[in-house]
Amino acid sequence: MNTFEYFFQHSQEFCCIINLDGYFENINPVFEKLLGYSQNELVKSNFSSFIHPDDIQATQLELEKLKNGTDINNFENRFRKKDNKYVWLEWNATPDTAAGKIYAIARNISERKITTETLKEREISQRKMDDEKVENNIRELRNSKQQIQAIFDNAPDPVIVIDDNSTIIKWNPKAETVFGWGTKEVIGKPLYEFIIPARYRENHIAGMKQVVTKGNVTELRKNYEVEAINKQGIEFPVSMSISSFLNEGNYFFIGFVRDISENKKIAAEKLIMAEELKRSNTELEQFAYIASHDLQEPLRMITSYLQLLEKRYKDKLDQDAKDFISFAVDGSNRMRALIHSLLEYSRINRVKPFEEINPNLLLNDVLKNISISIKENNVTINIDELPIIYGDPVLINLLFQNLIENAIKFRNAKNPEIHISVKEELNEFQFAIKDNGIGIQKEYLDKIFVIFKRLHSRESYPGTGMGLAICKKIVERHGGRIWVESEFGQGSTFYFTIKKKMF
Ligand code: ADP
Repeated sequence: MNTFEYFFQHSQEFCCIINLDGYFENINPVFEKLLGYSQNELVKSNFSSFIHPDDIQATQLELEKLKNGTDINNFENRFRKKDNKYVWLEWNATPDTAAGKIYAIARNISERKITTETLKEREISQRKMDDEKVENNIRELRNSKQQIQAIFDNAPDPVIVIDDNSTIIKWNPKAETVFGWGTKEVIGKPLYEFIIPARYRENHIAGMKQVVTKGNVTELRKNYEVEAINKQGIEFPVSMSISSFLNEGNYFFIGFVRDISENKKIAAEKLIMAEELKRSNTELEQFAYIASHDLQEPLRMITSYLQLLEKRYKDKLDQDAKDFISFAVDGSNRMRALIHSLLEYSRINRVKPFEEINPNLLLNDVLKNISISIKENNVTINIDELPIIYGDPVLINLLFQNLIENAIKFRNAKNPEIHISVKEELNEFQFAIKDNGIGIQKEYLDKIFVIFKRLHSRESYPGTGMGLAICKKIVERHGGRIWVESEFGQGSTFYFTIKKKMF
């Protein structure tokens, strides 16, 4: 055995000798062992019959190279073993064209291949996952872009995006309608040429510069009111909110603009109406005051002359004349009561400083004033412990007196029972005056607070119809509300609220 053969037989590398046509001539034992074929099985077989179909073409090319006398290095292919499984081999071969032989050494690289393949597979699946992620992101981005676009397109107010040179980048459909400029007309042009009145231009540019130099990317201004100008050159008030944002090193500004012409108009009209109402109320009060005040004097004259007539000519007048005089006196008394109520009504809003009132003490006075009526009518009055309130004592006195008098006046067959109570709310006290009188039909519950509104004839229940109108005005003067709840035939409860004093 020469050195070559020794080496061939004992080498741990897979060695073989193939002739130039690709037929095995010799393989070494380790190779035999690896492939599972015996030397005899292999010898005289063509090399290419063991090669994986996918590698045949490349293998043929390499064989051609060898035939032409060129070495091959690190050529990889799959070789079929006896068990029909493939093994990856890496070939280095050198031809001896003169002898018509190829000396080839192979290395089993299956493990490396498998690892590489697995890695590759992993890489592929990772890449696939990454791709999916990217795709998802893109889809999400597209969706959110679409959503933003939809918001932008359907925003009820103009939304405008500009860069830090005031160049218009975005201009939504509402901006088209409000300012009259079409998107195509304005995109790429400076905002100040379209909607900013000339006097604000410098400020506009300076404001943007400030943001860029200071580098603060926040909300700049919120709901500030300024004038804008439309395509027709008409100025109108707008409320603006501006934010800036940084994108790839460039500043952009997004403006939300609200046309507030209509609101302003409504607010101005409301103000005018409120002032008008106040003026006409004051005028009415003044008129009522003057009229009632000035009516008192001639009325007093009529009454005193009627009384004189009655006194002096008592014996000379027949019964008819006496009755007529008595009707006239009755009428003048009623007129006095009316004038008195009107005067009271017109005086309610005369500003007097409010003071602390203890309603329990105040009610003692009220009950004293009407003690005769209380006695005559067998009235029972229960008054709970009431809180200190803040107001005009004369008016509050009148308020309680009117409500208690009504509770007695509109009694039914039973003896009147009145209960005065209070409920404390967050910002106010809610008083209740409950009676067991005739009650009020549902349809009249909110009508009885109107001036001169009465539900009964003077004959059945005397009165002027001013009492509750006065109560309402007093309560409103104290920042409260008044209303009634009633069960017809069973009784009524009048409620009113008085605002707590805010210190
Ligand atoms: P007046 O008492 O002079 O009629 P008010 O303005 O005080 O005028 O009351 C208006 C109307 O409301 C009364 O005519 C009466 O019909 C009704 N009313 C007021 N208070 C009561 C009450 N406690 N019970 C039933 N009806 C009432």
